Amino acid sequence: MTTPVDGGRRSVPPILRGQRALVTGANSGIGRATAIALGRAGADVVVNYVFGSDAAEEVVAEIRSFGVRAYAHEADVSQEDQVVAMVARMVAEFGTIDVMVANAGLQRDAAVTEMTLAQWQKVLDVNLTGQFLCAREAAKEFIRRGVVPEVSRSAGKIVCMSSVHQIIPWAGHVNYASSKGGVLMLMQTLAQELAPRGIRVNAVAPGAIRTPINTSAWDTPEAEADLLRLIPYRRVGDPQDIADAVTVLASDLMDYVVGTTLYVDGGMTLFPGFATGG
Ligand code: NAD
Repeated sequence: MTTPVDGGRRSVPPILRGQRALVTGANSGIGRATAIALGRAGADVVVNYVFGSDAAEEVVAEIRSFGVRAYAHEADVSQEDQVVAMVARMVAEFGTIDVMVANAGLQRDAAVTEMTLAQWQKVLDVNLTGQFLCAREAAKEFIRRGVVPEVSRSAGKIVCMSSVHQIIPWAGHVNYASSKGGVLMLMQTLAQELAPRGIRVNAVAPGAIRTPINTSAWDTPEAEADLLRLIPYRRVGDPQDIADAVTVLASDLMDYVVGTTLYVDGGMTLFPGFATGG
């Protein structure tokens, strides 16, 4: 595993100073790294989780060590009332929201002939409907508040956590690939609809990142060797790789980036099988 420079604690410019961010699924993996990175860049952060309050409180403590505000909030992103209440509490406690990172996601893998409707529905509910609900509630507040130039050039930023599987079909994971394909069109349509209101909607699409969601893909040397054949850059990604991309995308450094997917995948979407054939 690649160790980030300076253990991931290198100093970063405060490109989100004064902004308020919410990250869903922020007590594990990519969401955890992203919540910490946003805090390190100067943002106050709401750490959403659905189970695992201890892990969420650890993330909160690390973010507070940067001198910004943070708290943990339990909510299931697939439940409308819980998402509405989560954003309402954030507006009450932090005054508003500037950055919504719709990251929470899960897999329920099965061959299509074995896949239950419950497995299909659960993945769509969390990965796609959850992002819709989070984006909708954030957009309402962005529009209500409008642009505050001292804080950001934009009225608000939504970052959808997608996947390379928004464009790469994935046998045995039709629910997951369909949910991420849906995230691509959700993101682009919201970007088109909300850009005139000064809101930027974009996506980050990770390739293979070492997190609990995909342990079996990299936890033995054989599995990792197999995986690396799909990655031209020949390393499995770290959550920090994604966290850094989200942080910059959410900042004014990327203010003219609207409706784009930033693939952070070591080249996985470059059809690596064609490097030697075709
Ligand atoms: P992870 O399992 O470590 O984290 C997922 C987080 O989402 C957890 O905190 C989990 O509790 C939370 N979550 C699940 N259901 C929820 C719900 N209903 N409400 C609120 N939170 C919920 O996995 P990860 O790899 O960090 O995944 C984060 C995102 O990145 C997901 O959207 C995933 O699809 C995406 N992604 C991951 C990879 C990868 O290789 N790890 C690649 C592409 C995309």
